[in-house]
Amino acid sequence: MTLPALPHEMDNHTFRLAVAQFDRAAELMNLDPNLRQRLKLPDRSLVVSVPVRMDDGHVEVFTGYRVIHDSSRGPSKGGIRYHPEVNLGEVAALAMWMTWKCALAGLPYGGAKGGVRVDPQKLSRGELQRLTRRYAAEIFPFIGPDKDVPAPDVGTDAQVMAWIMDTYSMQVGFASPGVVTGKPLSIGGSLGREEATGRGVVYVTLEAMKHLHLDPKKATVAIQGFGNVGSHTARIMHEVGAKVVAVSDHTGGLYNKNGLDIPKLLAASNDHGRPLGDIKLGDRITNENLLQLDCTVLVPAALSEQITEKNAAKVNCRILAEGANGPTTLEADQILHDKGVFIIPDILANSGGVIVSYFEWVQDVQRFFWKEQDIRDRLHEIITSAFHRTLEFSNKQKSGMRMAALMSGIDQVAKAHLARGLYP
Ligand code: NAD
Repeated sequence: MTLPALPHEMDNHTFRLAVAQFDRAAELMNLDPNLRQRLKLPDRSLVVSVPVRMDDGHVEVFTGYRVIHDSSRGPSKGGIRYHPEVNLGEVAALAMWMTWKCALAGLPYGGAKGGVRVDPQKLSRGELQRLTRRYAAEIFPFIGPDKDVPAPDVGTDAQVMAWIMDTYSMQVGFASPGVVTGKPLSIGGSLGREEATGRGVVYVTLEAMKHLHLDPKKATVAIQGFGNVGSHTARIMHEVGAKVVAVSDHTGGLYNKNGLDIPKLLAASNDHGRPLGDIKLGDRITNENLLQLDCTVLVPAALSEQITEKNAAKVNCRILAEGANGPTTLEADQILHDKGVFIIPDILANSGGVIVSYFEWVQDVQRFFWKEQDIRDRLHEIITSAFHRTLEFSNKQKSGMRMAALMSGIDQVAKAHLARGLYP
């Protein structure tokens, strides 16, 4: 059977990476060819124009996207990214990864992602609010607690979610906290959501260390990206006794071979509000050099395709814990595998965010809120059992962790499709 060509409007390198990973996993698991065609492309892709009145009075039109890759197992779930390079292909790739991620963790969700092509740093607070509200209004028919539930991603935060929640609630005529996750606590957010992705990265890394007989107290950690994921990963790694030797953001990085003073660094960065380039709490290091540091754990927690065939041979870590989505290309993956790097793939390593988003949604829908310790315990239980299922599957199939995680997620989605059948 010939498989469909990728729609040209989606055909970019990130989407090609997601599809190539899917194809490899589908081949290994001998996936039904009809399902293979169906799962390669998203259910629904929305492109919207977002006109915004800027502070100086002129109107600027931004392009926004919302892609729902699959909703066979429940409402679709996925973040919203504000970044100047956002495009349909990238959003479609991220939506596909969300589908496998939710299925791997056993959450009753499908996968989606959204974004607006904009540099949020260049907008005033008022412009950012108007942009968010108009984008929310444009995607309004497709989102909702039972339909599609957005969350924060690169360039968006709890405040942006609050504006989306408010815009949606104004349209339906009542408060609807379950329409987004990652909200402020005052409107139905969950304790532990903000740190959840970083905490999940640490939980699975500790499991990997146990498996490899490594002592966390003797481990060194390098982290690329010091936003939501990177900064909480750094803080919690430091709390469990690992030595965080390097961190970076878009302005470059800081390095100290004896370990950075993470609490001091977090305070100086105003909880990742101030760029690391302005802070003098370590030696300067470039993002490129950070990725090549000799360390126990490397955590890419910024953007995708940072580890490629060009630099993979120089990566010098024992464990690669992918905080970011799609940080490693397929070619780089093979090189790392051959070097014996233990990879905790993105759909497993960074699933703490969507797991606690699920808890937030459950709490909103039930109007019953949990204690922070309950959130941490349940996150630990779900993410570590996903880790061990993946490890077992990887040993059984003699495949790497990435393919094992993908196959396990795809298998759950395939079962849902086969049970439901093809409509009409
Ligand atoms: P964020 O916007 O809070 O932070 C992004 C960080 O990356 C910032 O420190 C920024 O300076 C840095 N950065 C940007 N460009 C860079 C570059 N070229 N080199 C080095 N650093 C650069 O975003 P986030 O929410 O922390 O997301 C980071 C990654 O984690 C993304 O891939 C995202 O999809 C993924 N992720 C996020 C969540 C979540 O809950 N926020 C969940 C799962 C996965």
